[in-house]
Amino acid sequence: MIVMKFGGTSVEDAQAITRAAGIVKARLPQKPVVVVSAIAKVTDQLLAMARAAGAGDRDTALKVSRGLRERHYNVAGELLGTGIFTQFHSELEADFDALDELLRGIAAVGELTPRTSDHVASYGELLSSKIVTAAFSARGLDASMVDSRQCIVTDSTHMRAAPLFEDTNQRLQSTLPPLLADNRVPVMGGFIGATKAGVTTTIGRGGSDFSAAIVGAGLGAERIEIWTDVDGMLTTDPNLCPEAKRIKVISFDEAAELAYFGARVLHPATVLPAVQKNIPVYILNSRNPSCEGTRITTRAPHCRNIFKAIAVKKRITIVDVAAPRMLLAHGFLKAIFEAFDRHRVPVDVVSTSEVSVSLTVDSNESIPALAADLAKLADVKYEGRKAIVCLVGDNLRETPGVAGRVFAELADVKIRMISQGASEINLTFVIEEDAVPGVVQRLHKTFFSDLDPEVFA
Ligand code: ASP
Ligand code: MG
Repeated sequence: MIVMKFGGTSVEDAQAITRAAGIVKARLPQKPVVVVSAIAKVTDQLLAMARAAGAGDRDTALKVSRGLRERHYNVAGELLGTGIFTQFHSELEADFDALDELLRGIAAVGELTPRTSDHVASYGELLSSKIVTAAFSARGLDASMVDSRQCIVTDSTHMRAAPLFEDTNQRLQSTLPPLLADNRVPVMGGFIGATKAGVTTTIGRGGSDFSAAIVGAGLGAERIEIWTDVDGMLTTDPNLCPEAKRIKVISFDEAAELAYFGARVLHPATVLPAVQKNIPVYILNSRNPSCEGTRITTRAPHCRNIFKAIAVKKRITIVDVAAPRMLLAHGFLKAIFEAFDRHRVPVDVVSTSEVSVSLTVDSNESIPALAADLAKLADVKYEGRKAIVCLVGDNLRETPGVAGRVFAELADVKIRMISQGASEINLTFVIEEDAVPGVVQRLHKTFFSDLDPEVFA
């Protein structure tokens, strides 16, 4: 069996769901289990209405809900003939009535708990899985909706619930194989689960990829396909460098480095359960299904090139903390990181000298308060409009002189920070934001002109 996960944009409207049906049909002999996200942007809207209700603004919550209802009716109406839709309509209506009831309840109490927030958010995947199941059935696929809350068992950390793998695997194994044996196509909502006691949970934003990996790992799938709206991972952002090429195969570790520094296709941490079981994960384009996409494997493929990709993260601020007085004093780094922790500001790149530390953070409004706090410990400066450039490739481990080649290429560029070593497969540095396009284009030309055809398209 295989798992096919369709993200929000791959089920965003009737056309997209029809495309998905065609893609699934072509895979029927491989016994697909389908996992779907909520329709694009729906989770954001559900959370917005939950917040509005929590703030006591019932009217806004119900207004957003009306828009959502309309959108789902329209998509379902377009997908299903009038006969089927009339019947299905009342089912959707009952769900939306229950959602509105819930919103009224939240507004009456004027408080939104994480548990209730999960309950509201779960409607996105619940509705999309129902609509996709009905649409697949109307297109000749023998689809069965499986309520993920019956299969994905989690702890009760609402909004970021952790799956309980033993219980989950048992439930998956008792629910799905019988359907597959019966030549049915199970359709499940991603992102949602339930505690052992049956309370609805969600497993973190963007969690449908994680759901797909949990299902694939639990059932020992041959492969997991993540259907999205791009051809896969690219050597760099094509908006910065039109010569960017598709990466055909990349290791989990390499993909994880790229995701950390901004590649948004998929966060590999979410497919870890599959990778740990050696199940390959494919990123594929539902608008261009014949493209073979990107395969993520447990171990790095043999590759002639040093690097697989250049990732860039813009809107970075460098925070410099200098404390000559603290020379040799222990506990200095701890005090600094505690300040970042207090202000909930995550740090990306760090470099230290005897008397100072430079750190990069995403530019945001907490920085002035953080800097004021740090100023109690040391001299603090911060400067925005920076960018992190990160070159990733497993061959970096074994190839001597790479840093020399990279920085020789950038001899005239002001490099603000350099970091290499933590993972051994990335070389990271910080430059002025304005310099990004030129730097990326030059590096791409140097390191990605003569590409290994086994690894790059
Ligand atoms: N619908 C959820 C979200 O938007 C989960 C997902 O799409 O992966 O976060
Ligand atoms: Mg997603």
